[in-house]
Amino acid sequence: MTDFYDIKGLLTEDERMVLDMTRKFAKKEIPNKFMAECFEKDRFPTELIPALANDLMCLGIKTNPAYGGSGLSNMIYGLVCQELEKADSGIRSFVSVQNSLCMFPIEQFGSEEQKKYWLPLMTAGKKIGCFGLTEPDFGSNPAGLRTTAIKKGNEFVLNGAKMWITNGTIADVAIIWAKTNPKDTTGESIKGFLVEKDTRGFYSRPMKHKWSLRASDTAELILNNVVIPETNLLPGTNAGIKTALACLTQARYGIAWGAVGAAMACYECALDYAKSRIQFHGKPIASHQLIQADLVEMITKITKAQLLIWRLAKLMDEKGIDKTRHIQVSMAKMDNVKMAMEIARSARNLLGANGISLEYPVVRHMANLESVFTYEGTDNIHKLSIGRHITGLNAF
Ligand SMILES: Cc1cc2nc3c(=O)[nH]c(=O)nc-3n(C[C@H](O)[C@H](O)[C@H](O)COP(=O)(O)OP(=O)(O)OC[C@H]3O[C@@H](n4cnc5c(N)ncnc54)[C@H](O)[C@@H]3O)c2cc1C
Repeated sequence: MTDFYDIKGLLTEDERMVLDMTRKFAKKEIPNKFMAECFEKDRFPTELIPALANDLMCLGIKTNPAYGGSGLSNMIYGLVCQELEKADSGIRSFVSVQNSLCMFPIEQFGSEEQKKYWLPLMTAGKKIGCFGLTEPDFGSNPAGLRTTAIKKGNEFVLNGAKMWITNGTIADVAIIWAKTNPKDTTGESIKGFLVEKDTRGFYSRPMKHKWSLRASDTAELILNNVVIPETNLLPGTNAGIKTALACLTQARYGIAWGAVGAAMACYECALDYAKSRIQFHGKPIASHQLIQADLVEMITKITKAQLLIWRLAKLMDEKGIDKTRHIQVSMAKMDNVKMAMEIARSARNLLGANGISLEYPVVRHMANLESVFTYEGTDNIHKLSIGRHITGLNAF
């Protein structure tokens, strides 16, 4: 296992236990052959949901036990994301959306009734959620989104369209971000609404032709005069777009860990391959200096990324989310994903022709990471956020 600086030695007994348990789970339930088939067939393996919920108990990891969750730390959540993404970014994406983008906003911004109803069911994997922020014309700049939620008596009427929504066709409930004032251009009137599947006028359809994150459910959502009771508004989402961004900070944190898992999978595959692949003079390619240099670069980059997320988890667990934490999360998401893409590319090179075959996990990770690079804030957008923070100048 890739742990050059003994990060495991920094973990508590509980954290080590969850790490080992998730590793074992991933090895047994989501091996390369299985994930490669899902990737090839362009399908998210819904049959895994009961095991993720009941055996691994990774839905509601951080949710308060009063609402059925496990109430565990950010460190544990991160370790789980790392091990699941080591198997496939699509599985980690499912878990991220359920935990960070659906259960988190319900717990943080929902009413007591909403928390009591949804959180235990979502922890048990009996209800699945999705998070609808991105629209056809608004991705990096969600404050401009056009979906509206207009109050009529004690109901809201929603109209609009969402794109690229993970878990979108399998979700029982969508958290839809919509403007209550159609003339708002700043995002101040954006609020979160719970829209249940089968509500009249609400449709989802799978997005086809993806060549990345193929083992993940990605959908387009249409809202055509969707009428929901006013009790479906998440009452704490009155800070406008900032509330949606607070959810993204949670999810980006998990991605920063997950990307390291994908990188570890690629590095470990490349190392094994290099030790057994024989070329020139009957020697394994790992005996050549150029190959060793590549492997050393890879493990060094992974080690630095592991230390970054370990420290980030400590800050989150010990000091909570303060005013600068989201910037630190941005940096970890941005840099760890870029690192993982570099590792995937080096590994793919090291495997020669086998580097493009799904018989090995490398090309699958390489393709998946293209999505991970874009979603939850592109590389450019994180650079602009960090740049604004360090200079005090807005370059968006
Ligand atoms: C597989 C997948 C799953 C997803 N899941 C979800 C989900 O569950 N829920 C959800 O709401 N969304 C989801 N998304 C959407 C994702 O968050 C957006 O794609 C992302 O925010 C980027 O938006 P965009 O694609 O519209 O790109 P754009 O915003 O159009 O950006 C295009 C390019 O321009 C750059 N750019 C934009 N503005 C600037 C600027 N000011 N300065 C410099 N460069 C700039 C960007 O960095 C990017 O390189 C998903 C996306 C994918 C691919």
